[in-house]
Amino acid sequence: MEQCTAIVLAAGQGKRMNTDVRKQYLLIQDKPVLWYALEAFEKSFVQKVVLVVSEDDIAYVKTEIVEKYHFQKVSSIVKGGKERYHSVACGIAAAGACDYIFIHDGARPFVDEEMLERLLQDVRLYEACVAGMPVKDTIKIANKDGFAQTTPDRNLVWQVQTPQVFSYALIKEAYQTLLREEDNLLNRGIKITDDAMVVETFSEHPVKLTEGSYHNVKITTPEDLVFASEYAKNLSFRNL
Ligand code: C5P
Repeated sequence: MEQCTAIVLAAGQGKRMNTDVRKQYLLIQDKPVLWYALEAFEKSFVQKVVLVVSEDDIAYVKTEIVEKYHFQKVSSIVKGGKERYHSVACGIAAAGACDYIFIHDGARPFVDEEMLERLLQDVRLYEACVAGMPVKDTIKIANKDGFAQTTPDRNLVWQVQTPQVFSYALIKEAYQTLLREEDNLLNRGIKITDDAMVVETFSEHPVKLTEGSYHNVKITTPEDLVFASEYAKNLSFRNL
């Protein structure tokens, strides 16, 4: 079996949640949002988990989440950075050499074993794959004045999720290039919003879109938490 390491990101501020408690620590059915993703990786084939949090939260996460719920696979808890991609770079540095890196938003509680298996199969074949689903709605590209400009073919439009999974060498190299080129990107107004974009921008390597699931939502705004609570009621592992 290959060495698989997960980087679970929880260093965001979660400003769109409008609460004092950061969203990764809000409760879904009595468990912190972050618990769900850690539980999924704990039960999976992934051997090691690197958890990336804000510097101020390291002690809290260690005692109140990792130790309290006995997550054995969390090998390090490291501080993140200003943007998501800074946090990913911190995670890659802490992960060290392995075969595949699974990068996952801690704010996506409902990653599951089947999805992880599909991603493992695809990363073996393609070295780079990301969870996603075809969009259900028609998508419009707007002009800067807020008018519809074009309508892409809906069959070709995917909403992309995490985990995003890469061979170690590929993602390490792409992130090293990103950090070298950061000023250049900022000057051009390019904002890096996911890991696939780093690989698309700084390597020739194609990124496979792998079936995720429609319930693999990112908890971003208060209504997401309402859905998550309802969904979590039916999860079989919740009380284990
Ligand atoms: O901000 P967004 O919702 O896109 O964040 C996605 C994930 O990345 C969240 O789990 C968040 O905690 C994490 N993140 C991070 N470091 C940042 C920004 C976001 O770890 N600087």
